[in-house]
Parts: sequence; C-alpha cells; structure tokens
Amino acid sequence: MTRRVLVTGAGVSGRSAAEALVEAGASVTVTDGSEQRLAELEALRSRGVELVPGLTVPPEGIDLVVTSPGWRPDAPLLAAAYAAGIEVIGEVELAWRLDQDSGSPATWLAVTGTNGKTTTVTMLESVLRAGGLDAVACGNVGLPVVDAVRAGHAVLAVELSSFQLHWSDSLAPAASVVLNVADDHLDWHGSAEAYGAAKGKVYAASSVAVFNADDASSTRLAAASRARRVGVTLDPPPEGHLGVLDGVLVDRAFSPETTALLPEPDVRPAGPHNVANALAAAALARAVGVSAESVAQGLREFEPGAHRSVQVAESGGVRYVNDSKATNPHAADAALRAHRRVVWIAGGLLKGADVDWLVEGNADRLDAVVLLGRDRDRFVSALARHAPQVPVREVDSGDDGGMVEAVRLARDLASSGATVLLAPAAASMDMFTDYAHRGTAFVEAVTAEVAASSAAA
Ligand code: ADP
Repeated sequence: MTRRVLVTGAGVSGRSAAEALVEAGASVTVTDGSEQRLAELEALRSRGVELVPGLTVPPEGIDLVVTSPGWRPDAPLLAAAYAAGIEVIGEVELAWRLDQDSGSPATWLAVTGTNGKTTTVTMLESVLRAGGLDAVACGNVGLPVVDAVRAGHAVLAVELSSFQLHWSDSLAPAASVVLNVADDHLDWHGSAEAYGAAKGKVYAASSVAVFNADDASSTRLAAASRARRVGVTLDPPPEGHLGVLDGVLVDRAFSPETTALLPEPDVRPAGPHNVANALAAAALARAVGVSAESVAQGLREFEPGAHRSVQVAESGGVRYVNDSKATNPHAADAALRAHRRVVWIAGGLLKGADVDWLVEGNADRLDAVVLLGRDRDRFVSALARHAPQVPVREVDSGDDGGMVEAVRLARDLASSGATVLLAPAAASMDMFTDYAHRGTAFVEAVTAEVAASSAAA
C-alpha cells in the first residue's frame, strides 16, 4: 500500500523529507503557513508532490505526518493529526527509518545539549575523517539527515536539537552525548523538565552513552540509560572516563592504559568549554574505534566555526571577540569565563531565561556592560542587584540594530588588557535576521572603529 504522507513546513528539512519520500514511493503533500515558502518548492510538483498552503487539518487518507522540528506539538494541524490517530514524526526519524530499510545502514553518532553541539559535531567530523572514515556532520548543523542518508555516507555525526529529539522515537546511535543541559527554549517545551527529557531521549537506545561528568543534568540523564557509560571531565579522569591530566587530554575509557590524545593548548578555539567539546568528540570517535593519533590529528585540523569565540581584532591592547552564537545565558557564561576582564555587549530576546545567576557569577570579570535589544531591562535589574559598581550603557536599536553605537561605547569603556566580547546571552531576532547577521554587524562595526582609531592615532 502506498503511504500517504503530509510534510508540514517547507523549509530545508521539509524539502529533503518530501524528496526522500517521493523516492521511496510515497504520495506526498507539503503544507506551510507561508505561501511564499511553499512556492520555493514549486519544482516538486512535477514529481507529483502536492503543495497546499495553510492546512489546519490533515487531508483525507494521510497516514503519516513528517513535521518540521520547529512546529509546536499544539499547533492546530498537529493537534488535529494526533486527534485522528495519525503518527507524527520528524525528518530525523524519517532518515533513521529510511536508513534502516536501506540494507546498509550508516553508523550514527549523536550529539545534543544546550550548547556546543555544532562545535562538537564538526570536531567529530574532522576526527572521523582523520581516521579515514567516510563521515559527514549533519542534522541541526545544516545538512538534513535525510540527505546524508541518501548520499550513502558510512558514518553520520548527527547534531540533534531538543526539537528534533522530541519528534524522534526509534534512533539507536552507536554512541551519543548530551553535552550539557541549561534553560533554553522553555517557551517551546513548556518546562525545564520537558526540555531535559527531550535531550535525554538520545540515550534511550544508544550503545554507548557519553556524558559530561562536570554537568549534573548530563550525568543524571546518562545514569538512567542502560548503555555503556563513558564520562568526560576537565579534571584528571577516573577510570572509564576521558579528561585532562597535567595539561593533556587523555583517554582512560577505550584503552587499557591511560592514552594521551593531545595537549590542551592545541584545542581551538581556546576556552574550557571547547576542551569539553573536544573530549566529547574524542569519546564518540573512540567508541567506534578511531585511533588516538587520528583524534589528535582531527582536532588539530579542525577549523573553528564563525561567530563562536572568534577574535576579530586587537587594537590599543584591547581584544575584540565575536561570540554572537552565545544565544542563551549558559553559552554566554562559557564565553565570559574564557576572559579575565571584559567589556560585555549583551542583550536581545531572552526566551524566558533567567540572567541573574549569569551576572552574579561573572560580576568580577566585568569592566563595563553595553546592552542592546528587547529584554535589556532584565539585564539592567540583574546588574543593579549583583554588580552595582559596573558601568552600564544602553543602546536603542537603529537601522543597524544599534551595533555601531554599541561598539563605539564599548571601545570608550575598554582599557588596555580588556576584551570587548559580544556574547549576547539572548536570541537576535528582535533586531537581526539571525545570530550570523548580528555577528557580522559586530565584525563590521569593530573593523570600522579600529580603522578610524588607527587613522586618528
Ligand atoms: P550549539 O550548536 O549547541 O548552539 P555551538 O557549538 O554553535 O553550539 O556553540 C554556541 C555557543 O555556545 C558558543 O559560541 C559558545 O558561546 C557556547 N558554547 C560552546 N560550547 C559550549 C559548552 N560545551 N558549554 C557551554 N557553552 C558552550
């Protein structure tokens, strides 16, 4: 019997899901609230795909819904599908099922967590390739998992968001990691418990559960799984863990002796959070037999991603660092902790998160703060409570989101030896298209400011 499948959401993963389903012989309908988005899939009509804007109930005869990960379970169309007893899955679950049916399924390595996912899967891809494997980073990092499966890669380094995990039930990766769990996307998941539970699903059927022994939530989620558990820590590792011993990343889990991987200063970008990411990538690769030499080579060859702790300029003894990807307080905390004296540019959409603990924990390293964006009042009151001595400036968003003004103020406030750090702790959509747009605005403003000050000197 031909399956009749409804794909909701005409974005990147929706398109790939529709194509893969057509190839598998299904009859496919795609819907999206935006007619413009749907129009981008026009070419699929010639392959028999129906495009219907704005559906709120599944058409007659649909027996499977493949939803875009961003759709909330209580969206009217999905609620109607549930009420009608129709199965609802995501594109990652579809990819898993197609892969299992392919006769030669890939080895899946899964990475989730609040922060560090993209850095870790791209480190992992580099390490796996150094080990001679035909591997690709896919999932939330950009390439739809369905496409990675259709391309026939042998090993998939899959980045999974909590949304994608919510819509996946049968994944059984060779090894998985939950890097960390902090409040984020609470508006979507409804509660911190529901968000943590979605992350923990990744361990349900994994053979190896890699966990962050320095993170209580990651440790707790792994403890509940039946998988072989392997911890990573920034401290000297107990047996069965990977960690840091005398300034060297070492493996005490996948070899009988303590095995050196690489010196800590060779991990890029610098900062304790990236050492944790490198250890997680190493553990996943070691779980599928990659040698210590290949781990070291892959981590050395790794090219850090844009907008993640990237030094943009140094001028007058002041360093300018772009971490626009710090879109929640937990990420900003990691970014701040990598520096001693900071003029911090922050603010945007907080998505329900609390910043009190962030300000309190970093008050000592703040020389000054420049705030942008919609939820800046929350920062102002946290700063008044926990860092009343720190100068604070606020910027209204102009055509450029206020970034030029913010960088100018930050430069005036920064003395030699300080770092001007963009680590907003918030999402960017109130002023920018996305974090990359915000980061680019920062880089352009810094470049102009530094050029102007060296011309004046
Ligand atoms: P994700 O894909 O989970 O959003 P990224 O690798 O893109 O994560 O990193 C996003 C930001 O999170 C970084 O720019 C940095 O500020 C912060 N970060 C990276 N790794 C970690 C980590 N292990 N723990 C906490 N924060 C981190």
